[in-house]
Amino acid sequence: MRRLLAAALASAFVIFTGSASAQEEYPNRPITILVPAAAGGPSDTVARLVAEAMRVDLGQQVLVENVGGAGGSLGAGRVASAEPDGYTLLLYHIGVSTFAALYPDLAYKPIEAFDSVGLVTEVPMTLVGKKDLPPQDVGSLLAYLKGEGAGATFGTAGVGAASDLCGKLLTEATGINLTVVPYKGTGPAMTDLVGGQIDLMCDQTTNTINQIKAGEIKSYAVTTKARIDALPDLPTLNESGVKDFEVTAWHAIWTPKGTPEAIRSKLSASLQKALATPKLIERFAALGTVPVAPELATPAALEERFHSEVERWGKLLSGK
Ligand code: ASP
Repeated sequence: MRRLLAAALASAFVIFTGSASAQEEYPNRPITILVPAAAGGPSDTVARLVAEAMRVDLGQQVLVENVGGAGGSLGAGRVASAEPDGYTLLLYHIGVSTFAALYPDLAYKPIEAFDSVGLVTEVPMTLVGKKDLPPQDVGSLLAYLKGEGAGATFGTAGVGAASDLCGKLLTEATGINLTVVPYKGTGPAMTDLVGGQIDLMCDQTTNTINQIKAGEIKSYAVTTKARIDALPDLPTLNESGVKDFEVTAWHAIWTPKGTPEAIRSKLSASLQKALATPKLIERFAALGTVPVAPELATPAALEERFHSEVERWGKLLSGK
């Protein structure tokens, strides 16, 4: 018996020291950041800039993998069932806090499936249309959508995506009627908006600003409380008559549940350094966004935000 006990203790010791040293050596192989939306879209753009800066800090490759579909719930599910060893991360946004309400049959519950690393950025969104859409401002757009333009096509990245959420809130606030066209991400939806195959989108500046500045699409309003520096002439929805309208796509990094705290702290420290990199700040600014403050790029800050957002969207969205 005593021998058995000693053997059990010895193996426990091996396991303990083994995992402790694995954490000390972390990372010793490439890390994959999974983005649950198509390549070339807004979340992918944010992820690739962050991955590049974290690669420099961590001294390991940080790869970005895109698994789009079902508003991001599909790809996020892949991370939910990945090994909690710090080598598979999820970088996504506000949508993760809506999945439980919007997909009651989902095989995982985000709040139970993920551990927090930190917030990344809060991306403003813009209401945009195809270049030759007749209305010139929000007021005439809303009138158009209630009349001859009723049922206009509205591209989204699927139920649970920020673009879809923005559309839902807008429809609710104004009583307009849109025909939602879901894509695997708003990257491909933007291609169709520029091509004139769809009429409208509400998407993040990280995916719209270049097309707005190039005059390839029409811009109507920004969804933030105040105007943004990168597009100072674009009015807010609030000042355009859609009172108190505000939605932004806050992005964050999560790990599968059970990822050791030491690893998450290391990732959070690296994320904070990445977000302070001049090159990243400059690229973010050109795309209409800014990194969060360092104290928000932490497990505790994301944990708090995530819980309160899950609760908020649970109440707002149940049954929709
Ligand atoms: N984040 C999605 C994407 O990258 C877009 C969205 O959520 O609306 O395509």
